[in-house]
Amino acid sequence: MIVNDRITDYIRSLESSQGSLLDSIEQEALRDRVPIIRRETAALLRTLVGALRPARILEIGTAVGYSSLLMCRVMPENCRITTIEKYEKRIPAALDNFKKAGEEGRITLLAGDADDLLAGLKGQTFDLVFMDAAKGQYLHWLPMILKLMPEGGVLISDNVLQDGDIVESRFAVERRNRTIHSRMRRYLYELKHRKGLETAVIPIGDGVAVSTKYTERME
Ligand code: SAH
Ligand code: MG
Repeated sequence: MIVNDRITDYIRSLESSQGSLLDSIEQEALRDRVPIIRRETAALLRTLVGALRPARILEIGTAVGYSSLLMCRVMPENCRITTIEKYEKRIPAALDNFKKAGEEGRITLLAGDADDLLAGLKGQTFDLVFMDAAKGQYLHWLPMILKLMPEGGVLISDNVLQDGDIVESRFAVERRNRTIHSRMRRYLYELKHRKGLETAVIPIGDGVAVSTKYTERME
């Protein structure tokens, strides 16, 4: 928990249906413990996509396609999404959901590890990147991702506050989470200090960082 539960519950209670298909994908994902985007984070994602009107979106971590389809609801007609997923069981489910939504033409799923696939995207540009996969890799992927983004491009990173664990000392965190804990701190430090990047860390859902790439100019 990051924000007090009553506030979170209240914010969630304001959310309404995303249509019967998305609602059923959401229910199924929650039942099967697929870590889909939380409702309040979903609202932020949809709002940003609607405001930024990107032409190309890159998502790392498709799962069963829920967040891709949420973005489809608000992105411009001619926008395209490239989404990456490595877990074999989830890939057919995602493809099936894209078909059911009639969005298979606007979404390309790249099956495999982002570690291998990101390099192959070189030369393409993505105005919006939604980073929502293995948290321990965010830092490692950052330079590659920034190369794929134009000036003004926006990077949204999910799950950056580790349910609040991020503020605990390394030793208060369970041993198996320690590596991720220190990598995530370094990732946030990097997002905040890297030249040409402006970042807001938002304590919504499991913590979201919204970053934009710009060119620093001399005063
Ligand atoms: N964005 C989805 C949820 C993604 S859950 C939604 O909100 O609907 C994170 C997903 O990232 C998992 O399905 C996991 O298999 C995938 N993943 C984790 N590490 C990855 C990697 N290195 N390459 C590709 N996919 C990865
Ligand atoms: Mg997430």
